[in-house]
Amino acid sequence: MKYELLKTEGRAKRGRFHTVHGVIETPVFMNVGTVAAIKGAVSTDDLRAIKCQVELSNTYHLHVRTGDKTIKELGGLHKFMNWDRPILTDSGGFQVFSLAGIRKIKEEGVTFNSHIDGRKIFMGPEESMQIQSNLGSTIAMAFDECPPALAERKYVEDSVARTTRWLHRCKEEMARLNGLDDTINKEQLLFGINQGAIYNDIRIEHAKIISELDLPGYAVGGLAVGESHEQMYDVLDNVVPYLPQNKPTYLMGVGTPANILEAVDRGVDFFDCVYPSRNGRHGHVYTNHGKLNLFNQKFEKDMRPIEEGCGCPTCKSYSRAYVRHLLKAKEMLGMRLCVLHNLYFYNTMMEEIRAALDAGEFAAYKKRKLESMESGEE
Ligand SMILES: [Zn+2]
Repeated sequence: MKYELLKTEGRAKRGRFHTVHGVIETPVFMNVGTVAAIKGAVSTDDLRAIKCQVELSNTYHLHVRTGDKTIKELGGLHKFMNWDRPILTDSGGFQVFSLAGIRKIKEEGVTFNSHIDGRKIFMGPEESMQIQSNLGSTIAMAFDECPPALAERKYVEDSVARTTRWLHRCKEEMARLNGLDDTINKEQLLFGINQGAIYNDIRIEHAKIISELDLPGYAVGGLAVGESHEQMYDVLDNVVPYLPQNKPTYLMGVGTPANILEAVDRGVDFFDCVYPSRNGRHGHVYTNHGKLNLFNQKFEKDMRPIEEGCGCPTCKSYSRAYVRHLLKAKEMLGMRLCVLHNLYFYNTMMEEIRAALDAGEFAAYKKRKLESMESGEE
C-alpha cells in the first residue's frame, strides 16, 4: 500500500505516502523550485535544513531550458540538483496556458511559443509524460487544461471532457515509459487532476470519472486563479468527498497559511505555492503574529530575530535590522534569508498540523493559529 491513512479528524487527513524516494508525511507543503531551484538562492542543502519533504519543479521551464533530454543524459533531476528526496513535477499545462505565447489547443495537444526564444513547441499528454519521465521525478502530474475560474459553462464542459481523454492517454503513456529499460524512475507515479472551474456539478462528475482510473493520487486544479477564497472553500467542500480518501489529495497552487489550514480541514493533504518564496524576495516575512514588511522603517534598529524562538537558519543568526539593511542595500543575502525563514515557517506549520492531527486536536490548533496570525502583534 502506497498511502496510509493514519488518522482523520472530521474530513482532515493525516497520512503517510511511501515513494521510491522516501516517505512523505502528510499534510505536506511542497517547496516550489521552478527551474530546479527555489528562487532566492536556495540550495538543496538549504532545503534539508528547512525541513522540506518534497521539492516541486516545473516541467515547462525545464523543457525549454536546459532541456529534459540533457537532464536525462546527466542522470535525471535528482542527480542533477543533488536531491535524493521526493520531487513532484507539474505537467507543464499550467505554464503553457498562462505563460507561453499564442497557442492553439487541439485534441492532440497544444502548440505554443517558448517564452525564452519564441520557438514553436508542441505539447500533448504523451509529450508531457515523456518530459517528466526524462526528468525522473517521483510524482508526475497529468497534462490538463486549466480553464479560467470565471470561464463560460460550455467552455468548461468541453475543456473538462478533453482533460479526461488526456488523462487516459497520460496513464497509458506513463505505463509504457515506466516499462522501458532506460527509464530513470520506473516507479514514477501519476496524479490525476480535477477541473471544472467553480461549477460544482461539473467538478463532482469529473471527480467520479477520474477516481475510477485508480491513480496513486488526485489533485484539485484550477483554483487560486481568480475566484474568491469562499468560492475555493465551497468547491473543496463539494468535490473532495468524491475523491478517494485513501489516496493523497493535492490542492494545486494554494496558498496562504489560512488557506492551507482551511483546506486541511476539508480533506486536502498536499500543497504547493510560490507565496513564501515570492513574498520573501520582497521582504515580506511570515510570523505567528502575522506578516511583517521588513522594509518598514520601524525595523531599522530592531535587533530581535524575525520571530523569537524560530529555529530557521536566519533567525538563529540574524536580526530584523540586519536583514532589513541587506534588503535596502539590494544585497542578495537579504532575499535569501527571508525566503529561508518563510519556507521554514510553512514547513513548520505543516509539522504542527500533523502533530495536532496525531493528537486529535486539529480543530483547536487551527482556531488558535488563525487567531494568533490575525492578531498582528510583533
Ligand atoms: Zn526564522
